[in-house]
Amino acid sequence: MTDQKKTQLAVIGGGPGGYSAAFMAADLGLKVALIDVEENPGGVCLYRGCIPSKALLHVAKVINDAREAAHWGLKFKEPEIDLNRVRESTAEVIRQMTNGLGQLCKARQVEYIRGLATYSDSQTLNIVQQDGNPIRLQCEASILAAGSRPTRFGPLIDSPNLMNSTGALKLEEIPKSLLIIGGGYIGLELGSVYSALGSKVTVVEMTDGLLPGADRDLVKPLQFIMEKRFEQILLNTKVTDMKEQKNGVKVTMEGPNVKKPNAIFDKVLVSVGRKPNSSGLGLENTQIKLDERGFIIVNEQMRTDDPHIFAIGDIVGGAMLAHKATHEGRVAAEVIAGHNVAFEPLAIPAVVFTDPELAWCGLTETQALKEDRAISVTRFPWAASGRAATLNRSEGLTKLITDPESNQILGMGIVGNGAGELIAEGALAIEMGAVARDLDLTIHPHPTLSETLMESAGALFGQSTHIYRPKKKTE
Ligand code: FAD
Repeated sequence: MTDQKKTQLAVIGGGPGGYSAAFMAADLGLKVALIDVEENPGGVCLYRGCIPSKALLHVAKVINDAREAAHWGLKFKEPEIDLNRVRESTAEVIRQMTNGLGQLCKARQVEYIRGLATYSDSQTLNIVQQDGNPIRLQCEASILAAGSRPTRFGPLIDSPNLMNSTGALKLEEIPKSLLIIGGGYIGLELGSVYSALGSKVTVVEMTDGLLPGADRDLVKPLQFIMEKRFEQILLNTKVTDMKEQKNGVKVTMEGPNVKKPNAIFDKVLVSVGRKPNSSGLGLENTQIKLDERGFIIVNEQMRTDDPHIFAIGDIVGGAMLAHKATHEGRVAAEVIAGHNVAFEPLAIPAVVFTDPELAWCGLTETQALKEDRAISVTRFPWAASGRAATLNRSEGLTKLITDPESNQILGMGIVGNGAGELIAEGALAIEMGAVARDLDLTIHPHPTLSETLMESAGALFGQSTHIYRPKKKTE
């Protein structure tokens, strides 16, 4: 028999968007049910995305740091890699974090329902629970946060040697040779892991550069290092065919620098993007509208075309990042609780957790050029940073984008060690409407990489202490 339940708010999907929305709504006094197929909340981010990939990138960093310690006169032997232990430690991190989220549900009295939900109408969900028992859940409002999944790639679909990001994170083996199709952040992060563990990694990217969206001067130092660590990076290159062979996958490639148009790789990782989980949810029983790529259309309050349903996170597109999902989720919960708020960020930071890291937020130079928008750009090369020198990581660069009239900070980009942590200051500066002088006059601790942000602001006035670049007389 179908169990009948009622709640004020149902949240479908327990990823960073869904659980943040559920927690916020509960904190605001609503009765909330959170539904997901996993044992605990966490979503792609915790089970097969951000967190496991960063745990493995930490392992890669330890290996690389040990190798690079030779610079300081410290020589370590090549590491013995116990893959089982690497997998176990990553799984422990996931367990610890997702169990914690389960506890937080209980503490906040959010009812966590493990099952698959579909809409039978705008205010009714059919949930098939893990144990097979159905629930009919009536809700005054719902937030759809069902996330996204990897896009499949044409020429070869089913092969044990073909992986998507989820398969790659399982780390079943370390292939001798690995081809990565797609030069976006997921491909480069996972490529960095496999390369540190011993695979010969080739990256194929169809466009003329890695990491579309990031400014080229920031990508350059990263690409320089990756070209040394990876077997090759093939830009403007297309995979036109893949065939399963006894000894791997035969891949046909077309591009200006392809030496072997038919090369065999032990494994192929397809990371060509992600698509929304917007099918199979019973959306035809609601008034929700999708765009041509299947993303749910929402307004700045995260309202869909159905007055009872909100949507957030990867399923609505835009920056498909966990922190964007979280903030959208919190806005949706506040709107449902009656607050007049909107999701209108000036800066959503993007971080590529490679080594070096690359991060940016707000306006990029590329975007400004495209929009024919006047900007000032100042750069502080890390070759002039004492802290970078003590780390032997002088390849970095900090870049500030400001309004030429008001000097308001519009964007920031950083490539270098710890860029992902440093960029938060840029996001705060942009959101607070700071001008370059604010950053220039804020005393930053010495010696730290954070000083490069202050000095990039000083450079705007020709007054950065550690670089001599006087302001032009005409300015
Ligand atoms: P998701 O996290 O996708 O969660 C959706 C949940 O909904 C899933 O648990 C799913 O099982 C559940 N669900 C779907 N349909 C139903 C249904 N019908 N009923 C019940 N439950 C359902 N982002 C970052 O910000 N930083 C990173 O470093 C980063 N690294 C990444 C690395 C990898 C390898 C990948 C794949 C992604 C990474 N991301 C990263 C992206 C990030 O994981 C996503 O942007 C984020 O998880 C999106 O959150 P979400 O709440 O929209 O949905």
